This record gives sequence, C-alpha cells and structure tokens, in this order.
Amino acid sequence: MDTKEEKSHNFIEEIVESDLAAGKYKEIVTRFPPEPNGYLHIGHASSICLNFGLTNKFPGYTNLRFDDTNPVTEDTEYVESIKDDIRWLGFTWKNELYASDYFGKLYDFAVQLIKKGLAYVDDSTADAIAALKGTPTQPGVDSPFRNRSVEENLDLFARMKAGEFPDGARTLRVKIDMAHPNMLMRDPILYRIKHAHHHRTGNDWCIYPMYDFAHGQSDSIEHITHSLCTLEFVPHRELYDWLIQTLEIYPSHQYEFARRNINYTVTSKRKLLQLVNEKFVDGWDDPRMPTISGLRRRGYTPESIRDFCDRIGIAKRENLIDVSLLEFCIREDLNKIALRRMVVFDPLKLVITNYPEGKTEMLQSEENPEAEKIEVRDIPFSRELYIEKEDFMENPPKKFFRLAPGQMVRLKSAYIIKCDEVIKDENGNIIELRCSYIPESRSGADTSGINVKGTLHWVSIPHAVSAEVRLYDRLFRVEDPGNEEGDFKEYINPDSLQVISHVYAEPALLKSRFGDRYQFLRKGYFTLDKDSSEENLVFNRTVTLKDTWAKEKSKT
Ligand code: ATP
Ligand code: MG
Repeated sequence: MDTKEEKSHNFIEEIVESDLAAGKYKEIVTRFPPEPNGYLHIGHASSICLNFGLTNKFPGYTNLRFDDTNPVTEDTEYVESIKDDIRWLGFTWKNELYASDYFGKLYDFAVQLIKKGLAYVDDSTADAIAALKGTPTQPGVDSPFRNRSVEENLDLFARMKAGEFPDGARTLRVKIDMAHPNMLMRDPILYRIKHAHHHRTGNDWCIYPMYDFAHGQSDSIEHITHSLCTLEFVPHRELYDWLIQTLEIYPSHQYEFARRNINYTVTSKRKLLQLVNEKFVDGWDDPRMPTISGLRRRGYTPESIRDFCDRIGIAKRENLIDVSLLEFCIREDLNKIALRRMVVFDPLKLVITNYPEGKTEMLQSEENPEAEKIEVRDIPFSRELYIEKEDFMENPPKKFFRLAPGQMVRLKSAYIIKCDEVIKDENGNIIELRCSYIPESRSGADTSGINVKGTLHWVSIPHAVSAEVRLYDRLFRVEDPGNEEGDFKEYINPDSLQVISHVYAEPALLKSRFGDRYQFLRKGYFTLDKDSSEENLVFNRTVTLKDTWAKEKSKT
C-alpha cells in the first residue's frame, strides 16, 4: 500500500526496523494463522493488516497458515471464506500452509522430546491432571506417571497414535516443572487422543497436537521471524521459547498486541457461530454481522476497512473501539465514489398543475459532485411526482424549510415549485398535493431570481422503479454484550433490521450491478444485495449519511 510509508510507526514496526538495521534478518517473514472454525471478523482484519502491512512495507513476505489442529470444529467452507476475505481486503500471501501438513513432523518432535526424557504419557483423566496442577500461589504435584521409562513412553505414544486407546484415556505431556511459577509451564499437554475426522487429513490421525505444541513449531518450520499474536498469549511465550530451544529448531519469536474489539457487537467466532446457528441472523454474511463477509455484503469497501485498521493502529492494551469510527471510514470513502440517486421511501403524490399532461422532460444531474471528472445522468421529470411524506407539513413550525401550503421549495436538479392546494380523503388524510412550477427556475438555467431554502428529492411517478430497501441498526443494544450478565443474546437489538418492501426510485437504478455504490440523496449509502433479482431490486443501507447515534448520545 503506497500510503504506508507516511504512517507513524507502531511498536511492532519499531522492533522489525531495529532487527533489520542490526542485520538480524535480511527479510522478515510473518504469518496470518486463522483457525478455520468460523468466518473472519473485523478483529481479524486488524491482524491481517498488521501482518501483511509489515511485509508490504519491509522486505519479506507473509504466509497464510491455517491453524487446523482441532478436527471437531474445523471445516473446508471456512478455509474458502477466509481466503476470499483476505484477497478481498487486498492482500496476497506467499504460501498457503496448514498446520495439519506438519502432523508428521510434530509427531517426530514429540518423539525427540520423549527420547530426551522430556515428555511422558500420562494415564490421568483431565480432572485428575487439573487437580494436581496447583494454583498460582501453590505448586502442583507430580503425576504418578511422570517417571515412566523412555521405552515405555515411546511404546505408549506409538500405540496412542495407532488408535489403541479411546478419547481422553491418555495424553502426552512435556516434563518441565510442576512447581514452575508460570502455570502453563507445569507439564503442559502436547497431545490428546481424539478419534475424529479431520477436514484435510481425514482419519489418518487420532492424536492431535495442542495449540502450544503446534503453533510455535509451525512458526519455526516456516522460519517465521516475527510471530504476532494477541495479548492472551503473553504467558504462553515462555513455553513457546522453551520448546523451540529444547528442540533446537529455528528460533521464531513471538510478539503480542492487543485484541481489537468494537462496541455494540461481539467479535468471537464462537459467539458469532451461535448467532448463525440459532438464526438470529441470516448467515455469516448477514449485513449486521461484524464479519468481513457481512461488512462486504453491507457495502463496506476494502479501502474503508484498511483505513479503519490503520487509524486504530496497534496497541499494547485492550480497549473497545467505537463502531462510529468504522462508520466514519466508510462514509469518507463512499462520499468520494458513490453515485447519487433519488429514491422516495414513503411517497406522497404531487401534481404540477401547470405542467403539460403526458410530457416527459429529461433533466440532468451529477453522478457524483465529489468526483474528479463530473459525469451526469438523465432523470425524467413529469407532471406527477412522488416526494417524501415527511417533506410536507400542513401546519409547519417556523423553521420548516420544506414544503407547506403556500411555501416554495426546489426539487433537486429540477424546478422550484409552490404548494397551492392540499387534497384529502374522507378521513382527512392527505393524499395529494397540487403545486405549480416556475418554468424559468430550472436547475443550471435558473433566471427566476427566486431563492428558496429547501431542496427535496423526488421521482417521476410514471418512470419510477420499485425496489426493496433494508435498513440496519446495531445488532446489540449494549456496548459490550459479551461482558454483560447472562447470555449475550439477550442483548440483541430487536430493531436491527427494518425492511421497506416498496420504495420508488429513479430509473437509473435499474442498471445497478453488484458492487455499485450509491448515495440515495438524504437517505444514506446503499449497495445491491445478493438477494436481488431482475424483478426485485434489493438494496442494503451501508450507513446513514450522518452519525445518528452521536445525536442520540448527546441527548442523554
Ligand atoms: P476468535 O475468538 O474470534 O475465535 P481467535 O483468536 O481464536 O479469535 P484465530 O482464528 O485463532 O481466532 O485468529 C487468527 C489470528 O487473528 C490470530 O493471530 C489472532 O490473534 C488474531 N485475532 C483474532 N481476533 C482478533 C481481534 N479481535 N483483534 C486482533 N487480532 C485478532
Ligand atoms: Mg484461536
């Protein structure tokens, strides 16, 4: 990314820079290591931008490594979605790798540790192991199986691999120190038995390495120079280093940064999976989801997400990021690129009594006034139009600059009109406005000399195209649903989706394609949804034009 150079350094860039300056490495190697047990979310985007950003800026490359050591929760669907999302964000990995490809090597590493007398097969149950682990202030107790001979351990481990024992019957543990001040160093488990089908290795294995044994060793196998992970792995670093030193393999180094979470949502794959499975949302790519695929379907651009990640940067301490910043980033981007369109959501009929019946006039309006090269589109104008119901008031307050009896407004890119008469049905509901237009007031050629304060969007009734719009609000009512009492799903916002099945759009919208971005004047930014068909156009509102929540907050 060409703008990277100007961005200020974060502490990880500083480490990389000094390592390169000291000649420790000629090039750096980073990896993005997702577990394929769900779709990527906005927190992952931060890690992706960090890992790939470093090797875009400095000499070196980034691997994509699937951390697929847990057969039960992983799936090829997730692998594909993860690759799609990274590509869409604009990054390219050097090698596509899988921790499961190293199962053979990891097994050999374990055998080496056994041979050195540094690993043993433990027949204790999980509960028994936990009971002997001690506490942060009290040392643990050695397992009764800790002093098995090397031969016995080699034999039992081979038989674990051969499938002789049921799930949970035995584990392989590394022999460090049951009184170690770091609990994670008290003989951690390296392997457990799990007779389960793996998405890549099928039924080849029934023992699987634990995270701590797979991760650092995979880093080392790939000669990763800077292994970046989130803060919860700080206490794991000691074990990471111990295993690499003891096995005498390539010395990768682990560095930690703060997890990035945003408010009014959850960013944990486990929780997001519940929302999907329990049908609180319409799949992983529901536009309300904080997943990359959800944001993409909602209309976010990769540029806006990268910009967001750049702005929040990398921190050493966790904090909740305001989702308004993400919305700010997408508004900034869409303002520059979105095509302007007029769409009436809640129509009120307006008849221009001095405009000829049956006449259609093609008016022109800018596709995007912010664009470097201004292009225009045609908008048909006729005697019968729709405006927004809320743009008319029969008895307006003082500063109502929209339409009212006897009052004038401009119709965007068209004429100034004046409301002459209000037509009601037998129940007193307003059903039609009779107006007159000023022929000399046409936008771009206005010689009328009349100044009006309000400009309204409108569509010509005979030319209007029907569409459906989906308006989204925050998925949760509270800032940090994952940290509230009880089930996080109790805090779901019941009004997070509002569907308006018939809105009236100017005909230019008929040409919409997936990926086109629009600003519906005064309504927000929109993009075509995948549920769209030729017969039924469906638009997602990506974001409103202004931060309406900021207003809500300042009221309270
Ligand atoms: P989750 O709890 O959502 O499942 P995870 O850490 O288990 O997250 P992984 O697939 O293991 O998910 O993550 C891949 C990489 O992305 C890891 O390096 C992880 O540290 C990083 N990552 C995950 N969540 C975040 C986050 N919220 N902010 C920054 N980085 C993250
Ligand atoms: Mg994980």
